[in-house]
Amino acid sequence: ALFHSCRQLNINQKSIDTRNKMGKYEILALENPLLDIQAVGDQALLDKYGLKPNDAILAEEKHMGIYEDLINRKADFNAGGAAQNTARGAQYILPEDSVVFVGCVGKDKYADLLVEANKKVGLHTVYRVDEEQPTGRCGVVITGHDRSMCTDLAAANCYKVEHLKENWDLVKQAKLYFVGGYHLTVSVPAIMALAEEAAKENKIFMLSLSAPFIPQFFKDQLDQTAPYWDYVVGNETEARSYAASHDLNTEDIPTIARHLAQLPKANSQRKRTVIITQGTDPTVVAVQDEDKVHEFPVHAIDKSEIADTTGAGDAFAGGFVAGVAKGESLKTCVDMGQWLAHLSIKELGPAYPFPKQTY
Ligand code: ADP
Ligand code: MG
Ligand code: MG
Repeated sequence: ALFHSCRQLNINQKSIDTRNKMGKYEILALENPLLDIQAVGDQALLDKYGLKPNDAILAEEKHMGIYEDLINRKADFNAGGAAQNTARGAQYILPEDSVVFVGCVGKDKYADLLVEANKKVGLHTVYRVDEEQPTGRCGVVITGHDRSMCTDLAAANCYKVEHLKENWDLVKQAKLYFVGGYHLTVSVPAIMALAEEAAKENKIFMLSLSAPFIPQFFKDQLDQTAPYWDYVVGNETEARSYAASHDLNTEDIPTIARHLAQLPKANSQRKRTVIITQGTDPTVVAVQDEDKVHEFPVHAIDKSEIADTTGAGDAFAGGFVAGVAKGESLKTCVDMGQWLAHLSIKELGPAYPFPKQTY
């Protein structure tokens, strides 16, 4: 049920560019723009597609029926894509025209839905539009407090370093690059172009580990980016997956965080900061060359207030990155992350409350 729609901007063109040409975009975020198709499921649905209750995977042929199944269960459609959620979160906090997001979408109504959701928080996008593939979809099966995500990248998989090069003015303008680790399955050259530019110009490069399957199955791609991480963020399961695939022989989060902080670094002008969130447990932060590993408690939330924890980590990263852009202290950046995550889990889907709240 895909159809062509009339866009207000750049009709018939190869991109959807919602930028305010007068704007100065301090943060450039890159990853996969996805539409989340989210519904309450059950064990039978998980079994049908061989899914774990709490996981994120890329869809194979055998998974393609899940989107129809979710729609038949009265699915909600939400703007998703981890780094796009983060970008919306950072823009939610920062002044107008602070964040721009790039990635590839299809020529369909789903791309328009994403543009609309981003517009709500003032996030601007420069989407490459693929002629053949539809906008990527992330099927979210909710069972109790668990979320199983199954992503069909489709158009999102068509992003190329050439597309980034076409918008190099944005890269030059930004002072901070945020890359979602999920993009490591799509375009390592685009990620490396940002990483190397950051090191060369002493700008900030931040990467999210995104999901356990990234350090597990995209280890070499991830490792290629490691020397460029000024900030790396992930949750406890992703950190442990990294430890397992790199034979660190530990599951201890502070130990893993310290290890990541001490990996070789390309730009010696900035010390690396590693941030590992752990749901309701304290957030662990390790800084390169510092012995002490910091722990910051989360903002407690009453169970009755939790609507949906989808995207808690993405929201955390959004608040954190907004703090970094504002030049806040590490403690404040973490607190801004906890604050935004707290707001987001009171909403359905990876969303933020309106009227806007201020930190
Ligand atoms: P992910 O969504 O990637 O699994 P986490 O589950 O670690 O990430 O959540 C990220 C952050 O979201 C936490 O550090 C915390 O600030 C916040 N958060 C998540 N769940 C809760 C909760 N139940 N109560 C309060 N804060 C939470
Ligand atoms: Mg979690
Ligand atoms: Mg996460």
